[in-house]
Amino acid sequence: MSALFERFQVRLAERAAQDLIRTRRIASSPTAPRQVIDGVEKLLFCSNDYLGLADHPALVQALQEGAERYGVGSGASHLISGHSEAHEALEAELARWARDCIPDARAITLCTGYMANLALLTGLGDREDAQIFSERLNHASLIDGARLARAQKSVYTELGELEAQLRASTAATKLIVSDAVFSMDGHLAPLRELLALAEAHDALLLVDDAHGFGVLGPRGRGSLAHCGLRSERLVWMGTLGKAAGVAGAFIAAHPSLIEWLLQTARPTIFTTASPPALAHALLKSLELIEGEEGERRRDQLELLRAHLVEGLAPLAAAHGWQLPHSDTPIQPLIVGENAAALALSARLDARGLRVPAIRPPTVAVGTARLRITLCADHQSDDIDTLIRALQP
Ligand code: PMP
Repeated sequence: MSALFERFQVRLAERAAQDLIRTRRIASSPTAPRQVIDGVEKLLFCSNDYLGLADHPALVQALQEGAERYGVGSGASHLISGHSEAHEALEAELARWARDCIPDARAITLCTGYMANLALLTGLGDREDAQIFSERLNHASLIDGARLARAQKSVYTELGELEAQLRASTAATKLIVSDAVFSMDGHLAPLRELLALAEAHDALLLVDDAHGFGVLGPRGRGSLAHCGLRSERLVWMGTLGKAAGVAGAFIAAHPSLIEWLLQTARPTIFTTASPPALAHALLKSLELIEGEEGERRRDQLELLRAHLVEGLAPLAAAHGWQLPHSDTPIQPLIVGENAAALALSARLDARGLRVPAIRPPTVAVGTARLRITLCADHQSDDIDTLIRALQP
């Protein structure tokens, strides 16, 4: 083998020695809560399809209708000819949702949440006179966006530290950036306090609501509405491939800021628009999320969450595992060492359940965990199955 490839082999071997090799498994059915993986049906506790909409018949039908009307590809970027009436309608609907919390909000959609975060941080932090204040636990896409941006950057772990950083900053544009729900922990960021700091220091507050959109707040309007926030300083980003069950993402904010992103943000300008059929299906998804069906599914999630915590608490106490408080259908079970988390995940796998071990660098060293996620299509019996399977 040429030395060129040997170097990769050596690095892969180093990862293997630290129990850091990940594998892709092959699914041959729709997702959550059961999925056929590598030919075997598994009970999943790892999907982000929180409301169980990813295989909802009304969405499958809407996608088919969309494909019939628009074809399967958009053919170009939004600014060329890829912006369909379905995208336009979806953006109008998301803007309507956002106006609960952001007066006069306008929204744009992007192909993925990862790209939306790159667009936000590079678009708003495009100059040296901007400063990004990023929470330490933020998602990788926000970290990567901050790395790409030309702005100054600082990382905070708690509000006092953020306040000191804001006070010391002379940047013309200040951007506080936080996940609304921390994706590996399930708890909410202190959004009210963050907004108060943004007000006090004339900053924008960018909130990544990937895991709150559709799940939290009245009618599933997400974390900002859940916390009762309202301000034109808010920039709301949400993903559409998790609770909304399809794919894509949106950014909603003051119209001048959205127009700026539309004109300048490279992750939306230099990429093909998502298929219009997806936007068509997403319109149906929003209808379900805000309607009775969404309410019912959110209620079920709440019941399941309480049942899960009740079952996990004695197990965690007996094994010395940590069971942090979660506000959402994401419940971590912190085991500690990578090998221990892997062994537990493998045991569950052998018992027909899929709960992957989350290891560094996704989480801090020594906090490897099972990240258990719930879906509204789970039944109480499924939780009992999980609890039983976790017993030695
Ligand atoms: N932000 C957070 C907090 C996420 O968890 C994720 C996805 N795991 C993303 C952004 C990226 O979203 P997408 O999957 O749509 O690229």
